[in-house]
Amino acid sequence: MAMSKCRVCKEREAEWSWQPFGPAEDSRETFTVPGWHYRGFAVIPVCDQCKKRIQAGATVQFDYKRTTYTCIDDEVWGIRRVSELVPKER
Ligand SMILES: [Zn+2]
Repeated sequence: MAMSKCRVCKEREAEWSWQPFGPAEDSRETFTVPGWHYRGFAVIPVCDQCKKRIQAGATVQFDYKRTTYTCIDDEVWGIRRVSELVPKER
């Protein structure tokens, strides 16, 4: 199975499936090996270093479905990217 890039640093190969939207109540807790994630929750591929940063409480950002999310402590906040707004036709 081809590994994807880490969705947090966008540099290293992802080694973990992070599920910040659940099922764990604390967004920093749900990491599984790829292929073994919990069904029904979004999967964010992350590398080992970013996993450690997240678990250490670092504030990280990732993109998912045209939205940029920031994980601050145990909560995830989403901001729709302004760059994706379509300008009006002239
Ligand atoms: Zn990373």
